[in-house]
Amino acid sequence: MNKSSLILTLFLIVSGVVSVTGSNASFVDIKADTYTMQNNVMSIKFQKINNKLKLINLYTDKKQWITNESVDTDLLWQLSFVSDKNRSLVFNSQMLNLKDVEMLNTDKKGLKFQWEFKSEASVGYVNVTVGLDEKTKLSEWELSVDLPEGWEVTDAIFPVISVNKDKGAQLITPSGWGAEYELDNISNLRLPLIYPSSRATVQLYCMKDKDEVLYFSTHDKNANTKTLSARIGNNVELSVEVPASKGWNKTGKFNIPWKTSIGLHQKGWENAVLDWYRPFALQTTWGKKTMLEKNTPKWMLETDLWLHGGRDGNDELDALQRSFDFFGKENISYHWYYWSSKDFDTSYPEYLPARANYDKIVDIIHQNGSHVMPYTNGRLWDTTTVIYQEKKGLNEVVLKKNGQPYVEIYASKAPNAVVCPSSKVWNDIVVKFTKDILEGKIKNDALYYDQVASARALPCYNSEHNHPAGGGDFWHYANRDIFTNVRNQLQANKVLATEQNAECFIDLFDLFLMGNRPMGKEWSPAPVFPLIYSDRAMLYGFYLHNPNDMSFRIKNALTLLWGAQLNGGRSLFVMSAKVQENAAFLRDMMEFRKKQHDLFVGGRFLGEYTPEGDNPILTIESWVRPSQAVRGAKWQSADGKKATLLVNFDTANHNIVLPNGKKVLLKAGQCYRFNH
Ligand SMILES: [Zn+2]
Repeated sequence: MNKSSLILTLFLIVSGVVSVTGSNASFVDIKADTYTMQNNVMSIKFQKINNKLKLINLYTDKKQWITNESVDTDLLWQLSFVSDKNRSLVFNSQMLNLKDVEMLNTDKKGLKFQWEFKSEASVGYVNVTVGLDEKTKLSEWELSVDLPEGWEVTDAIFPVISVNKDKGAQLITPSGWGAEYELDNISNLRLPLIYPSSRATVQLYCMKDKDEVLYFSTHDKNANTKTLSARIGNNVELSVEVPASKGWNKTGKFNIPWKTSIGLHQKGWENAVLDWYRPFALQTTWGKKTMLEKNTPKWMLETDLWLHGGRDGNDELDALQRSFDFFGKENISYHWYYWSSKDFDTSYPEYLPARANYDKIVDIIHQNGSHVMPYTNGRLWDTTTVIYQEKKGLNEVVLKKNGQPYVEIYASKAPNAVVCPSSKVWNDIVVKFTKDILEGKIKNDALYYDQVASARALPCYNSEHNHPAGGGDFWHYANRDIFTNVRNQLQANKVLATEQNAECFIDLFDLFLMGNRPMGKEWSPAPVFPLIYSDRAMLYGFYLHNPNDMSFRIKNALTLLWGAQLNGGRSLFVMSAKVQENAAFLRDMMEFRKKQHDLFVGGRFLGEYTPEGDNPILTIESWVRPSQAVRGAKWQSADGKKATLLVNFDTANHNIVLPNGKKVLLKAGQCYRFNH
């Protein structure tokens, strides 16, 4: 180094232009009205404009996620209060001037912003901190309130960020399997995804622009009720809406009891999910145990195909027997819907007695070495039942904020109350009807509880219930209590299943029915859930409506590739003459699936694989978006062996390239395993 460059270097260090702490360190800076923080991955910039705080940018070396055009709102948070005089008030970051900003005085680098709110003689403060976690490279956003005496927060929206909708960008949501929305095709759509439910099975959104990804997630290990909201217009606004729990307002201090993590990842959304969400998921109550550690009966793990039974007529019995003749007796199980003598969606939870021929059905299934799982509902209580009157059911029902009981009416027209899961009365009822159905004279092998891991969590404002009024974590923990009690009295070899796959219930059930579609139209299914939980939850089925066309083939191809058990739909449907060709395709897939249990039972789904070669994009009847004819998936077995699976779901042959560069001809409907 010559003398002049040494002097220049010293000057740059002194003037702060060169970081002396190395490229891995984060820094936080307050300069006039601009507040910045950065680590070696991402930068966040806030600015005070006309005394209001605005998030000006989130960026990496490669991409600015926010530009002036996308900052059409400076709303970072909004809070609804009830004051000591019982007045409802709303304050937000657009209304209030920023009072103070300071660097975090903790082991974490970051900034703390403060606003003051007043009403008459009452004064309170809203505190927002944004910190950088050096280990994960994520920014963490938290909100707390210093409450005036006698005040409470009833609802919160925090954080709110509004980012660019650049051409070609996608939004990945946590609905069902996961869904990828093509933003170019969407001009106005709001996705209010209530967690936990089938619409928000996990707690994240990803925005994707080529390989760069914005990751937005509430790593909340208590699974509190919240709405993950996305508003797609000229830009994309992501936020978390929270019905507050009375229990969060106890000591003059309110805080949202989790952090929202926002990060920018350079290697695609799958890697963002694997690097950031899966490590969180594995530490939760529900995500600790693998599928192999759950003591799930072997027959369930070895099932490759489910068929649905309907009522109990001779046509059902005939289709049932023919299904065993066609698919074979091994590895096929039955989910039986209309087995109760009561009409569907009426008289819950009074299911017994069964229909006249149901005993005969169970006998046929058992004689064929197969298993049967009847339908029940784990959430609704018909208000016209005798037991509802006897047990004073009204006291056990979810109460809305306006004091009205929460009652749903489906096609059956029965008034079905949504029971608060905290109810001891309901807990006992579920345990009892489970025992009666599984150990009564019918001898079923499993029980299916509709809605439990699918229907949205509700806040409950009944102050007499065994939980603080409002939202919070009681929905998760109270349902956990019910199904822990159910499990504790379960005989060996019996299986519990539910609708959909809200993550916080995956350790309580053995099987999850994937029936529901995401909201809107411009999406394709994306394997968000299998990436996180393929070794922890066994799923089955794929959007249940079953037309006899190419959609039947792609649905079952993805079911197989993403590790779930296949679903032929109603046996009357799949055994009908017109479905013969697709039924044969399903049978071939079932035979192929039988040989992949080393991957699917306890192994891990590592991502999709799209083979090169003759792999045309097909437009598919009754299906959401066009798809390549040959789809693939990367897997790792429980003992670490890697394989790539391929399915040509098309009705034409295709010559495609394997991961080792060699070509292989996949015949119409053929499945293929490539071992690495
Ligand atoms: Zn309640």
